[in-house]
Amino acid sequence: MFVYNAEVTQPYTVLTDSWPIQMTGDKSLRKLPSVDRIVGLASCKSLIDRYGRSRVVGATRKLLDHIRNEILSAGNGEDYALKSDEDLMSALSSQLKESSRPLLKKVVNCSGVIIHTNLGRAMLAETAGKAAMDTAVSCVNLEYSLKEGERGERDDILEGLITGLTGAEAATVVNNNAAAVLLVLNTLSDRKETIVSRGELIEIGGSFRLPEIMAKSGSVLKEVGTTNRTHLSDYQTAINQNTALILSVHTSNYRIIGFTSKPELTQLKTLAKSKSLPLMVDLGAGAVIDLERLGLKGEPTVAQTLDNGADVVTISGDKLLGGPQAGIIAGDSGIIARIRKNPLKRALRLDKMTISALEATLRIYQNPDEAVEAVPTLRHLGKPVEKIRAVAGKAVEILKDEFGGDAEVFAVDDICRAGSGSLPEVDIPSVSVVVRHKNMNPDEVKKWFRSLDPPIIGRVESGMFRLDMRCVDDAGQIRPRHES
Ligand SMILES: *Cc1c(COP(=O)(O)O)cnc(C)c1O
Repeated sequence: MFVYNAEVTQPYTVLTDSWPIQMTGDKSLRKLPSVDRIVGLASCKSLIDRYGRSRVVGATRKLLDHIRNEILSAGNGEDYALKSDEDLMSALSSQLKESSRPLLKKVVNCSGVIIHTNLGRAMLAETAGKAAMDTAVSCVNLEYSLKEGERGERDDILEGLITGLTGAEAATVVNNNAAAVLLVLNTLSDRKETIVSRGELIEIGGSFRLPEIMAKSGSVLKEVGTTNRTHLSDYQTAINQNTALILSVHTSNYRIIGFTSKPELTQLKTLAKSKSLPLMVDLGAGAVIDLERLGLKGEPTVAQTLDNGADVVTISGDKLLGGPQAGIIAGDSGIIARIRKNPLKRALRLDKMTISALEATLRIYQNPDEAVEAVPTLRHLGKPVEKIRAVAGKAVEILKDEFGGDAEVFAVDDICRAGSGSLPEVDIPSVSVVVRHKNMNPDEVKKWFRSLDPPIIGRVESGMFRLDMRCVDDAGQIRPRHES
């Protein structure tokens, strides 16, 4: 609430009466300065130089509206005083400063979710970030063959790298995996039927619902089986002359346990082949190297999925791959050629910065030993607990210093998740720093950390505010800093 300075200087008066809403014509409202008068003040000149006249006028109008509303809604008996010129000027200045701050800003991910969609998923490897930056501020040979001196294909930049890593015959890329799924379905099954198991009709956080994407693609969803069990024969009996595609979806963000069954991909392949139907796998999280080397089991790679019979596979660029937001489509060259001819492909194409970041990311994977260190997602997933504990220890010291006697700060063993629909069955061991504050409850502590610059995003679990340290490479990142 806007409370006016009680030490009022002329020409404004202290308002001590009550202010019924209908008294809009009252003296004190009339004594509010005009926009012109404020903007004309000598002290306003520096703001105009800095932010431009129209923004200053807009902010002044907003500020005066705010004051007017406060006066009108003031209850009986409340004392108000109109501000001095200096106060108005300083309120105006902080409002302009506040509105100049970027809305998208760095945060520190201590959420306990490694690939967090709301926090922008993967952090790029340094070389990938730098490549995107260089590309962003330059002209590049995006669709220009330097050899021939004529038009080239933007797909050529990434195709060889993707096929090299996955063993696919051909590959193309679009804006995200949802776009990849939409495009493949539209290309292969528009106005035709696509068979999917009921156990795989997924919704991924952030509004990806397979049945809705399918409807928009023009393909007709033919659900088979039940939530927990789908048999090969269910697929078999669903096939008719209108069937164009069999789709298998990697149910990456949940698991069905207990009395379950579904056919192996190789069995689906045999069936699809006998009916001359293509088999698509939406793999989602999309590991391109075996994550068992990081101690993480159960996430099939693109290469394994193609080996097991998928004709076309779709994955996200910014989940387990650890690259920029993108959708990668890899598989049969005939299918990829049809996809390239689909006008939707043009609408979903990647921009040069993303292509550049993806190229650099994929190049790192050419040496998997390098990838597990240089790609932050893999580094964070594979970090040994002792290393996390060491960083947590330093973080405890830093926060103890910050809070003095006002808070208990200590490290606890914790569990975190990969997030974004990857490795759903894996509990990943981690270490969290707990902050128990004398004067703030856990939710208030959470809010306090969020108000820092950069904001530090933690979570409250079992009544404790926790900062999960798996994604923090350097304890200095959690030193609280406030906005200047
Ligand atoms: C994440 C995911 C998607 C959506 O991918 P985006 O890159 O977020 O568009 C689709 N399918 C599966 C199986 C997924 O895991």
